This record gives sequence, structure tokens and C-alpha cells, in this order.
Amino acid sequence: MKHHALAIDGPAGAGKSTVAKLVAKKLNYTYIDTGAMYRATTLKALRSGIDIEDPEAFGFLDSTKMEFKKGILFLDGEDITMPIRSNEVSNNVSVVASHIPVRNKLVALQQQIAESSNVVMDGRDIGTVVLPDADLKIFMTASVEERARRRHEENLSLGIPSSYDKLKSEIERRDKIDSSRSYNPLRQAEDAIYLDTSDHDINAVADMIYNMFTVVTTKRSKDNGKQNGQ
Ligand code: C5P
Repeated sequence: MKHHALAIDGPAGAGKSTVAKLVAKKLNYTYIDTGAMYRATTLKALRSGIDIEDPEAFGFLDSTKMEFKKGILFLDGEDITMPIRSNEVSNNVSVVASHIPVRNKLVALQQQIAESSNVVMDGRDIGTVVLPDADLKIFMTASVEERARRRHEENLSLGIPSSYDKLKSEIERRDKIDSSRSYNPLRQAEDAIYLDTSDHDINAVADMIYNMFTVVTTKRSKDNGKQNGQ
């Protein structure tokens, strides 16, 4: 791997994206929100009216453009930050993400991005499938109650109507589909560090991960230097 990578996996609402954004900013790395890519695929599928249950109906991905600019995902040139957070997309994304052709396409795209820049990438299968050689892998989780509370607050701050109870049951449903799908399920990589963030301030978690990452990458650079006789 030519570039450095930090992989952050975990279930919905564990604080991955907040932490990933903070750490990427401190490192001056590109932040890649892979959940947004599955959401964008779902949005395009819903808009075009295809049968989202059909794994073979996603051929449109071959001619779809997904591009991150300053952490914001553009779908065929459109800033889709708001529409991909809608309830309709949230409730259908796990089905779309369970299709093998969809995963293969998006994983390839994610690997391509990581080949050309230093990245902090968050998702469900980054440490296990997308970037098995990442410098550091974190598996971040929190109680369902805490995760629903965080998503609820996030929605309110974005001006999206929100109900805590509904969010809690939707998160439980999504966790179940994501962990039980047969292809690339949500799973902790063997060499990932497990972090339960329920009782921790997200900024403190970000600082800790940043420090760990700096230690690991500095050591790797030194080891590589020694191997090269420097
Ligand atoms: O991270 P976020 O909650 O936005 O992800 C939305 C959905 O996308 C997840 O519930 C999961 O079904 C899917 N996903 C995935 N693999 C990833 C990232 C997200 O299957 N690497």
C-alpha cells in the first residue's frame, strides 16, 4: 500500500463519522464515508423506480459517477447530502447493501480512492474487506439507546423530523440485516481495536485514535526505513 489508511467500522450511530471527520481533519487525510455511497446508490435506485430487491437491477452503477469533494459526496455531479439522509433511503439502504454486485462495485471504487490518497474510511467492512492492510483498524460501537439518541440529535440539527423510538427500532433492524447478511457482513476484523463509546466524549475518542494512528504510522515508517538500510 503506497498510502496510509485508517479504517473505522461499526454499527449505525456509534460515532464513526464524527470521529472519522475529526481525525481526517487533524491528519489532513481524505475522509471517505462509505455509508454515503450505499445511500447514494439507494437514492438513485429509488428515484429510477427499479426493483431494489433485485441484485441484478443495479447495472446503472457502471455509468454512475460518485466523487468526494472535501468530504461531500456528489452523485452524477449533484450534492446529495440531504436526500441520502431521508427516512426512505435509511429504511432501504441495508437491502441494497446486501446485493453482491452492488458491494463489488462500491468496494472497488473505495479501494481505488485509497490507492491514490491517504484516507480515513468508515463503514462496515473496511477493516475486513476494503482495506485489510490499513495501518490501524478501529471497531467502534455503543449501546443501541446511545446510538439512537445520537442519530436523533444529528437529525434535529440537520432539520430532519425525528422520533427517538422509531430511530431505535430502525437501527436495531439495520444492525440485524448488516450483521447477518452472508456477503461481507458487519464484523470486527481480528486485528481491529474494539472501542465502546457509550460513555465517552466523541472528541476525546477522536484524540485517542489520532494519537494511536500517529504512533503506528511513525513506527511503520521507521521500520520501512530500517528495511531499506536507512
Ligand atoms: O454508515 P451509514 O449508517 O450511513 O450506512 C448506511 C448503510 O449502508 C448501513 O446500514 C449498511 O447497510 C450499508 N453499509 C455497508 N457497508 C459499508 C457502509 C455502509 O453495507 N461499508
